[in-house]
Amino acid sequence: MEEKMEQPPSNTSSSLYPNLQPPPTMPLAPHTVHTIITATVFGKENQRMTCPRCNADISTRVESAANMKTHLLALLLCLGGCCCCAPLPYCMDSCLVHKHYCPACSFFLGVSKN
Ligand SMILES: [Zn+2]
Repeated sequence: MEEKMEQPPSNTSSSLYPNLQPPPTMPLAPHTVHTIITATVFGKENQRMTCPRCNADISTRVESAANMKTHLLALLLCLGGCCCCAPLPYCMDSCLVHKHYCPACSFFLGVSKN
C-alpha cells in the first residue's frame, strides 16, 4: 500500500493529460508559413522566380516527364485494341507533366498541373 505513494517526480509531467485528450492548442490554426512557396502555380513554360533554396533570381529549367496518367492512358489504348497508339501519350505534351528545377542548384521547385 505504501509503495504506491512513491512516484518519481519526472512522471508527473507526462501524465498531465490522458491519452484521449489533445494538448490545449488551437485545433484549426492555419499554417501560413509554408504556403508562400507551394502557392506558385507552374505551367508548361519556364518562368522567372526566386529560388527558395539558393535565393537566386532564376528562370526555371523545365523537364517533361510521364506521370501515372500517361501510363494509364497508354495502357487503356493498348487494352482498347489500339496498340499502335499506345506510345502516343508519351509524345503528347498535354499528357506529360512539366517539372521545374532551379538551373543554379538543381532544386526541384514544382510540377505543372495538367
Ligand atoms: Zn536554386
